Amino acid sequence: MKKVTVVGGGLAGCEAAWQAAMRGAKVTLYEMKPKKYSEAHKESGLAELVCSNSLRSNDPGTAPGLLKEEMRMLGSLLMDAAEAAKVPAGSALAVDREVFSDYVTSAIEANDNITIIRDELTDIPAGEGTVTVIATGPLTSDSFAQSIGRLIGEDYLYFYDAIAPIVDADSIGFDIAFRAARYGKGDDDYINCPMDEETYYGFVEALVNAEQLKTKHFEKEIFFEGCMPIEVMAGRGKDTLSFGPMKPVGLEDPRTGKCAFAVIQLRQENKSASMYNIVGFQTRMTYPEQRRVFRMIPGLENAEFLRLGSMHRNTYINSPTHLSATLQMKERPDILFAGQITGVEGYIESAATGILAGINAAKVAEGRTAVSPPELTGLGGLVKHVTDADVKHFQPMHINFGLLPPVERMKGRRMKKSEKRAMAARRSIEAMKAWVKAGF
Ligand SMILES: Cc1cc2nc3c(=O)[nH]c(=O)nc-3n(C[C@H](O)[C@H](O)[C@H](O)COP(=O)(O)OP(=O)(O)OC[C@H]3O[C@@H](n4cnc5c(N)ncnc54)[C@H](O)[C@@H]3O)c2cc1C
Repeated sequence: MKKVTVVGGGLAGCEAAWQAAMRGAKVTLYEMKPKKYSEAHKESGLAELVCSNSLRSNDPGTAPGLLKEEMRMLGSLLMDAAEAAKVPAGSALAVDREVFSDYVTSAIEANDNITIIRDELTDIPAGEGTVTVIATGPLTSDSFAQSIGRLIGEDYLYFYDAIAPIVDADSIGFDIAFRAARYGKGDDDYINCPMDEETYYGFVEALVNAEQLKTKHFEKEIFFEGCMPIEVMAGRGKDTLSFGPMKPVGLEDPRTGKCAFAVIQLRQENKSASMYNIVGFQTRMTYPEQRRVFRMIPGLENAEFLRLGSMHRNTYINSPTHLSATLQMKERPDILFAGQITGVEGYIESAATGILAGINAAKVAEGRTAVSPPELTGLGGLVKHVTDADVKHFQPMHINFGLLPPVERMKGRRMKKSEKRAMAARRSIEAMKAWVKAGF
């Protein structure tokens, strides 16, 4: 059996090391703390929660709750730690972050199959004798990031995300929004939300005055990267957007037969066309402000946001180009990626992909075939998205119901959103149960 090397002792790396070790693999886990800290990490323990102490909803009828339930079925170390560290937080699962990190650190230290090396790894391990899981997170050290860049090509490694909101396709008002290609060239791939002059200037005003998140000190340079937040662009002049991302030319509104004063375009996000992103609307507005301001857009008054916009310092790779649904590199199946660096977003999403990478690292070390969870499961939907999304417009994603195959309509009646979600969640749990029972 080959050895397994896990790089990064964060949420994904700890799960990966644990899962591989529990399957008999000899694991070496590299963690650069406390010798070296990223800009956000402050504590020496493993599995540090760098910001919020909430792992989001614990209700299995919600997407984050569903993913957690699946993680428990897969024997998640972090879910055990969360149970031991939980603090009262209503329907959310929030933890005492010190107790959480101590629990994970002690479990990993006590595992005879895991050796921890508290040092920065600057190069990806080479050679026949090891399977490597890269889980160095959104703030991967510079030298290791360079090594990843050499492995996959600089163009496929990103250091910032600039995320535009994603809307549930079912919640778009097609009495106003219309499908059309600019100048009628090509297919009607875009959904267009037209604005008259008065609505446009009101919208610009709302954007400029909306409350924004503060930029962290290590994120300043983001504005030099050519990914301008929509509210900053709006602040440059009241007509800037109508000549930029909201330009209406070549888009005739079928209701009036004319071009509107401005148009907001939505582009299909996933293959099943259940999610659409608002093109060019990366933003630093707070979440409540995004909901308020973006619902001013004609056609999006009742929009359900599956993901809201954000802009962060974030190291991640173009996973659809490089990874298969087992989280192995297509070109180098002895190298797996896990956590935020794959383009998943969030604590539990990172940990969940760590579980899959750990299971597969052990399989690959034993010379067995790696697996991928059923697409009906939350984890399967998440992994499918990051490994199968549109290569050109790939952006990080957190767990949401839009990633799961649509629920069949009930005969003879329209189902409520809550019913659809409850049904999708039940279907996912059953699929995960069956997968676990079959031994993957
Ligand atoms: C500032 C900030 C705030 C965030 N807040 C939240 C939040 O509130 N809620 C949420 O759900 N998500 C949040 N995230 C997003 C993300 O979910 C977390 O960052 C999560 O910890 C990612 O898990 P990970 O295992 O991929 O990376 P990490 O948990 O960051 O783990 C990576 C580990 O690798 C180590 N490492 C890096 N390079 C090397 C190297 N070369 N050699 C050895 N070790 C190395 C690091 O020290 C770190 O311990 C935040 C991200 C950032 C950057």
